[in-house]
Amino acid sequence: MRKISDKIYADSCACIPGGVNSPVRSFPGHQMTPIIADHGRGDLIYDVDGKSYIDFCGSWGALILGHAHPSIVSAACAQVARGSSFGMATPYELALAQKIIQHLPSIEKIRFVSSGTEACMSAVRLARGFTGKKKVVKFNGNFHGHSDGFLIRAGSGVHELPNASSSGVLPELVQHTISLPYNDIELTRAVLNSYDDIAAVILEPVVGNMGVIIPSQAFMEMLREETAKKNIVLIFDEVITGFRVGLHGAQGYFGITPDLTCLAKIIGGGFPAAAFGGRREIMDHLAPLGSVYQGGTLSGNPVAMVAGLAALTEVEKPGFYEELERKTLRFLEPLRSRCNVQQIGSMFTLFLPDYKTFFQKLFAQGIYFPPLQQEACFISSAHTDDHLDQAQKIILSLL
Ligand code: PLP
Repeated sequence: MRKISDKIYADSCACIPGGVNSPVRSFPGHQMTPIIADHGRGDLIYDVDGKSYIDFCGSWGALILGHAHPSIVSAACAQVARGSSFGMATPYELALAQKIIQHLPSIEKIRFVSSGTEACMSAVRLARGFTGKKKVVKFNGNFHGHSDGFLIRAGSGVHELPNASSSGVLPELVQHTISLPYNDIELTRAVLNSYDDIAAVILEPVVGNMGVIIPSQAFMEMLREETAKKNIVLIFDEVITGFRVGLHGAQGYFGITPDLTCLAKIIGGGFPAAAFGGRREIMDHLAPLGSVYQGGTLSGNPVAMVAGLAALTEVEKPGFYEELERKTLRFLEPLRSRCNVQQIGSMFTLFLPDYKTFFQKLFAQGIYFPPLQQEACFISSAHTDDHLDQAQKIILSLL
């Protein structure tokens, strides 16, 4: 019984389409009231009815420290008291820029925005402005936010729509987008060689939006080699993987240097911050230095910047990622023989033939997995071994 949730959801449906401000929050396909969150603490999320859930979603990957981490709470509260928005340069964006650049050396210059959508959209515009070319190659099932040019054969919630594409997107706006099967070396190489007007290749270097999929090293090396030969900008969308699969992102994992990188989620510590950055020579095409326009009222928002700084200060502590991976491996170990488990660092997917029923049964027992199998699961530093053991036992009983 979730009476208060039911009431709020019904009322929300009357004034917000689908009752939610992002489609996957509605638990698509489940015909049930989604979580109406009240508060979160550590690895637990509490709904408005007072029911708690062990959270394996972590605000879609943003909360690598769990809910309401003390250092983020104190940094953000202190900044709110000093002013929450200036629409001006601040020392905090410089500090966060320097920290990100320190850990992701492919980024020589960086520009902050407010969402991953903006980061990816702006990176592609910049690639087109820099190269003077038109086409963009993306991969089926990857998700780069909801800007028009990406909404064909996309992952995440778009996957629920016919052809994984959105209506309202004019064919003219996707005519220069080519979407290819992920991890297909020969086809991708052939396509890159058959057009001379490709401005950019954008991909999730580990996919988190069709379940976790780790590409082959050979695929990544081919992409770097072919794009470098043809002056194509290689864009890594590390919105999920940045500071998740390790301090140096998926690019560190594969040892591949992209031209541009998109970041969001973890770099905002749970606040709306995102960024794109990369080679100086490309980034300097942005206004006010160059003619590629991009800007935003809340870009580099000081509360989000200090929260991001607090988050990155935690993750760079020695042993942080090792401990996170230890917990994740321990949690997944007995599940591996029961189903197809894909995992890297602290992100994973359990691929199951009837994910829908699995999700609902977990939910009823106070375990919150993402409602769609396409969405990755995440473990945070706040997950206790106790809660992980509890969740593991329940999962084993369902497999
Ligand atoms: N890119 C990837 C890989 C994502 O997973 C997402 C969102 O989940 C985005 C881009 C879009 O980010 P946002 O939701 O912040 O607009």
